[in-house]
Amino acid sequence: MDCYKNHEICTKLRKKLLVHRLPKYLIDLESIHNGYIRIVDTEGIQEDNVQYSILSYSWGGGQHSKTTSGNLKKRLVGFPLTDLPMTVQHAVTVTQAFRLCYLWVDAICIPQDPDGRLIQQELDAMPELYAKATVVISAACAAHSNAGFLEPRDQDYHQYDLPVSTVDEGQQVDGRITLFERGFKKQREPVDMRIWTEQERNNALCSFRFESEQVVWRCRETTHADSDVDMLPPYPDAYNASTFDGSMFPSMLSTTSTRNYEGNLREYLKHTSDFSKRQYTSFDDRLDAFARSASFMARDMGWEASQYKAGLWMKDMQRGLMWCRDERWTNGSTADDVPMNMTLVPSWSWASLPSAVQWDDLNYLDWGSCYSLRVSECKVKVKCPKKPYHGVEKGELTVEGYALNVFWDGRELVNRTGLCGSVRRASRPTLEPGAFNNPQGPSLARTHDKEERKRSHESAFPSDHQVSLEPSVLPAKVIWDSLLPPEPQDLTCLEILGFGGSSSGIMLSYTSGGKYKRSGYFATEDEIKSGLLGGGSKVGHHWLRQGRCRKFCVI
Ligand SMILES: [Zn+2]
Repeated sequence: MDCYKNHEICTKLRKKLLVHRLPKYLIDLESIHNGYIRIVDTEGIQEDNVQYSILSYSWGGGQHSKTTSGNLKKRLVGFPLTDLPMTVQHAVTVTQAFRLCYLWVDAICIPQDPDGRLIQQELDAMPELYAKATVVISAACAAHSNAGFLEPRDQDYHQYDLPVSTVDEGQQVDGRITLFERGFKKQREPVDMRIWTEQERNNALCSFRFESEQVVWRCRETTHADSDVDMLPPYPDAYNASTFDGSMFPSMLSTTSTRNYEGNLREYLKHTSDFSKRQYTSFDDRLDAFARSASFMARDMGWEASQYKAGLWMKDMQRGLMWCRDERWTNGSTADDVPMNMTLVPSWSWASLPSAVQWDDLNYLDWGSCYSLRVSECKVKVKCPKKPYHGVEKGELTVEGYALNVFWDGRELVNRTGLCGSVRRASRPTLEPGAFNNPQGPSLARTHDKEERKRSHESAFPSDHQVSLEPSVLPAKVIWDSLLPPEPQDLTCLEILGFGGSSSGIMLSYTSGGKYKRSGYFATEDEIKSGLLGGGSKVGHHWLRQGRCRKFCVI
């Protein structure tokens, strides 16, 4: 394989992984005889350099094919190849094509007993097992273990010629452009939808991925697809910039010496939001499955584990806190079992949300001075002290910043600060029936229709009447953490970023004992300035900056 002979980066990474133990059991392909196969205990293998492939796949179905303590003995002797689900049989075929003698498949090579010690051992070693595999075979297009992935695929290029005319120095020039329908396609496959397979792909040094419409070879130095119309971009980074699944995350950080601090942070946030779109079975698993990515980030940034706070980094906490629920993912929860209360991880962490998150604007990069929020302290209690990047029991964040008390009336945020004196309130139309059925979506709190407001304003004040007027409604867009907007209640807007007269930050609701919980993300809307108020006063920002900074403890 070219990757083993000529790839400098891949070879270097492989050398780093010298200390290694083998998985306890492997499927022995050399044993195949008369349709029978067996698994071997690797303690009995004499070879020095055991090479094996790993199958990365979505299990589902095929319960009877798993290895258990009940059938282990028999499987060590021999069992029909057809006992293996189709996806695993196809992996056998591919492994043979690579001329490798061994294949590792979790459900076959780890006896699946509920209290099995071996399960935990092998799960802990998983990142190393994947990194050390000669190749990871990804059954990307197989929806379950019986689906298989070696199907005939449409290999034709569809070509279209289109006539085009341009005018060059007054002369009409006729030409043609050619479109190819096939090309390097990036698409989400069933295997991408599970959090554990994501971790597997992060750790694999090279993988052979069977997608619905193409086969892709991917290692740390290159990516090739059998559907390439032309060469793929020569630099893995160029390729990665346009992909959505962040599967090359660790290598994006570690193999490019020129990548800067900001670039790494941006990749981290992108990677996090990609990860949050993945489905998972147990809500509690989320930070565990993300742990590997976090540890790579720490390694490559030279950060201590103590910098890591439930999915966010102390060094970049202000920006980290500005996540919001990704409204484009309308199906909401990515968890199979959404718990009723979401107190497993702190509310300020993106991992507390059982749905997709994003960062509103990843370009808030070197705006250090625009962050008005001060983070004084962040205490996190991890479930297992030896695993600082895994799940947490609780977390407490102490911050200080500009805050505004508001009342959420079910439709919009009403100023509670009580700006009196010269400030008069614009009259608000009364709520009409059905006002909650906001066509913008239930969680988007918008101010009234601008025209309507203008009319009510004009009736209250003659047009030449210059007064200092501020509406009582905070001109802000809110994206609630919950799918449905909360019940009417008192809330606090806490500014994190303020620049150019606009503010964005998080919504806090009071719990007890002086502590708050996060309930959403807000950004003030600049459009107001050219509407009712005309004069360009940036109301939301102005309001937030009125008072002195206050301290909050968010749990
Ligand atoms: Zn390579």
